[in-house]
Amino acid sequence: MLQGLMRNPERLKALAKEAKEFALQHGVVMRTVETPDSSEVVTYAPFTLFPTPVPKAVFHQALAVQTHFNTLVDKISQDPGFLEEALASTVQADDFTAKLFDIYRQVQREGRTQSIVLGVNRSDYMPNQREDGTCSLKQMEINTISAGSFGVTGLLPVVHRHILRLVGLLEESQHVPDNNTLAAVVRALAKAWELYGQQKAVFMFLVEDVQISKLSHRCIENELWKRDIPVIRRKFEDVVKTGYLNGDKKMFVDGLEVAVVYYRYGYVPNNYKEQTWEARLLMERSLAVKCPDIGTHLAGTKKVQQELARPGVLERFFPDQPQVVEQIRATFAGQYTLDMGPEGDQTVAMALAKPDEFVLKPQREGGGNNFFGEDIVRILEEVKGDKRRAAYILMDRIRPKVEHNVLLRRGLPLQLSSVCYEIGVFGAYVRHGGEMVLNEAAGHTLRTKSIEHSDGGVCNGVTIFDSPLFY
Ligand code: ADP
Ligand code: MG
Repeated sequence: MLQGLMRNPERLKALAKEAKEFALQHGVVMRTVETPDSSEVVTYAPFTLFPTPVPKAVFHQALAVQTHFNTLVDKISQDPGFLEEALASTVQADDFTAKLFDIYRQVQREGRTQSIVLGVNRSDYMPNQREDGTCSLKQMEINTISAGSFGVTGLLPVVHRHILRLVGLLEESQHVPDNNTLAAVVRALAKAWELYGQQKAVFMFLVEDVQISKLSHRCIENELWKRDIPVIRRKFEDVVKTGYLNGDKKMFVDGLEVAVVYYRYGYVPNNYKEQTWEARLLMERSLAVKCPDIGTHLAGTKKVQQELARPGVLERFFPDQPQVVEQIRATFAGQYTLDMGPEGDQTVAMALAKPDEFVLKPQREGGGNNFFGEDIVRILEEVKGDKRRAAYILMDRIRPKVEHNVLLRRGLPLQLSSVCYEIGVFGAYVRHGGEMVLNEAAGHTLRTKSIEHSDGGVCNGVTIFDSPLFY
């Protein structure tokens, strides 16, 4: 079908035009890089013209394991011994992780004050192509802070079904699943606010200066306001200027008591300045519910993920649940330590021998930070002799299945591209003291990129929103 369409450029152009108009009308909107704070000119969020074929079984495997990942992240966040050991060498090599870990230690020393824990994470997978043509689900990473992109993907099934119907694929249009991530995530956010138990206390989005993602945050804000939950948006600087804790460690910002801090920023080093680290510490010490709290943030580091892949480690968190361990472990790709010592030396040798089979990952988020192929050799040759290498982990490179689609993005030519996709599954949970009061697999996001890019990222224009077409 795609091939036929490519032979008819006029028809393709008309279809793309229709898709963009339909998408805009259904809220698939984004601000532009040129005018990130203005509503005068906006554009459609990048999306694929068609939904991409995804094996239903693989997709459901990812959804089915999510509540266990929620539990796992939550358990790690409460296990200072494990975090301390897992991150010991990383904090010596990576300043950012070290700063986060300092805050974690300080909060631990003071004793925890808030027993309500709110987690919103996204576990990202690729299907790894086997030689027999089948594929297995492999996790690339789990994000425990600022896990986003559910504003747009929830709107796309309607758009994709419409496109399929336009080209006469009625039957296929029924194989694009619904996606109710927004509602599920908001249930968790609202639950945490309710448990805090102060009607006037606000729900605070911690956001950046340049607010290109503001429109997608708005989807969440609107849902909270509908539930009579007052929402404010503040930057680190605002917390620095007006934030304080009272004698009970209740936090006030601009004179308003804060029930929940929801971080949509603060996940990479350049989000921080000297003073803003103090603001982060203030929030972590406070009675406000943090999404995520500092322990949960650290549970999402790539180093922790690598440690989890070691034999016996998952069993520590699920001692009597071999099936859960098996279900989680089935999604792990090989991951290897680069800590100083014989094991790390072996990792270095293995990577240098076959760099194309691995990915070298620093402790960073947001896409565009990983190293592939010859870059792995370059970096490792530089750091292999000393503890700087512990700032990275090595991971088996996943070989995703290649599909074809037309990527719609401002400035991109209208053409058939070879693409691969990433399945992201959202998890949302709320724990109150010892009791999990909510634990959900909160929907999905499918993100697709041209295979010419090794790494991803929405803001740098690589990642395009998509929907699965089940087969
Ligand atoms: P970040 O936290 O920066 O998003 P990720 O680990 O999710 O880091 O990796 C970013 C991108 O790099 C992914 O979207 C994917 O395209 C690519 N990538 C990550 N891990 C692998 C892997 N093991 N094999 C192949 N590609 C990978
Ligand atoms: Mg990430």
